[in-house]
Amino acid sequence: MDQRRYFEQLDASDPLRDMRALFDLRDDRVFFNGNSLGPPPRATANRLDEALRLWRDDMNAGWWDHGWLRLSTLTGDRIGEIIGAAPGQVVVGESTSVNLFKLLCGAMESQSGSERSVILTDPDNFPSDLYIADGVARYVQRQATVRRTPTDEIIDHIDSDVAVVMLSHVDYRTAQLLPMRRINERAHEAGALVLWDLSHSAGVVPVELDAAGTDLAVGCGYKYLNGGPGAPGYMYVAHRLLPRFEQPITGWLGHTRPFDFTAEYRPDAGIARLTTGCPPLLSLLALDEGVALTARADPVAVRAKSVALGESFIALSRARLARYGVEVTGPADSAQRGSHVSLRSAQAERLAKDLAARGFHLELRPPDLLRFGLAPLHIRYVDVFDCVAAMEELLAESVHGGPRR
Ligand SMILES: *Cc1c(COP(=O)(O)O)cnc(C)c1O
Repeated sequence: MDQRRYFEQLDASDPLRDMRALFDLRDDRVFFNGNSLGPPPRATANRLDEALRLWRDDMNAGWWDHGWLRLSTLTGDRIGEIIGAAPGQVVVGESTSVNLFKLLCGAMESQSGSERSVILTDPDNFPSDLYIADGVARYVQRQATVRRTPTDEIIDHIDSDVAVVMLSHVDYRTAQLLPMRRINERAHEAGALVLWDLSHSAGVVPVELDAAGTDLAVGCGYKYLNGGPGAPGYMYVAHRLLPRFEQPITGWLGHTRPFDFTAEYRPDAGIARLTTGCPPLLSLLALDEGVALTARADPVAVRAKSVALGESFIALSRARLARYGVEVTGPADSAQRGSHVSLRSAQAERLAKDLAARGFHLELRPPDLLRFGLAPLHIRYVDVFDCVAAMEELLAESVHGGPRR
């Protein structure tokens, strides 16, 4: 059978095939960068239009009668359904970086009665996460030191000095998926807390925060949650930690009674204590639509398709691109892989540009990595086939000095 036909048939029997129509997609574009620059949900435009109408006609009604004031916690609970968190433990806040700052400070503070002073992380963690950890140690928790240990060894380095282990659930480059429950258990045995970054897992990889005994987590709104450009991120604090959990940016909306306008700060009893000021409302509405779309898909089908797309991408790349020096990076076992595949090529930069000209959008991670995000709600099996075929053609052209006859 014609190989492309085989992938068309996989699409025809894909249980998620109807989800694609919920996105405002152009036919001539494929978003392999859907894990940060993906297409908008169709419903987002209506939601924002409605907000603009309220803004014009009666903005006060928006805040009070249309639930804008409660939306940070409401959308938080909706995200909670996707990441296995019971209501009241997730809230939308600022950017992931700022949210991480808040939780890291709070985690260090809740360990302040102990001798523990180390923030343990991985040198290949997302740079912003590393910068934030360094900033916390430098400007706020001045007794703290940041220790960087490769993820493969991290579990053996959780000792009695460690206050907080801070890790990405899925690595932004290699897609390595870490065993959350095992690391939580090991850290808890040693008396440490764990703070997870779910940016590359939420919405595409099964996440069960409560069941895994997770303490703290942050995640990004504009990746697989489809929140759109600059969408705010979210924070999770487990119920058992929440009553004593403090964060350093104590603004009025984290107050238990903000509209009493009292001069003394008293934190809200619940997850709202993590918030600070007015939410970025228009972005929050867009995030809420993205989350609603994401939550409509069966998570088991999402993971199954994500794995199948990854396997297809890797098998096709090995078969058709290896001879041009293109190397598949990251874990070979799909059980340890998130939802993106990175290829290494000396021609990465040129390939990214030429693929974009053919409508395949992806991300370049310098110097030589091409990252393909496989968002199962809008990427089709034929998209994977066509993209690898396009890469093969482009690489053949560069070898033969012109298009193949
Ligand atoms: C995308 C991403 C972020 C994004 O941070 P912002 O502050 O929201 O821009 C943070 N951490 C990780 C691991 C990411 O992948």
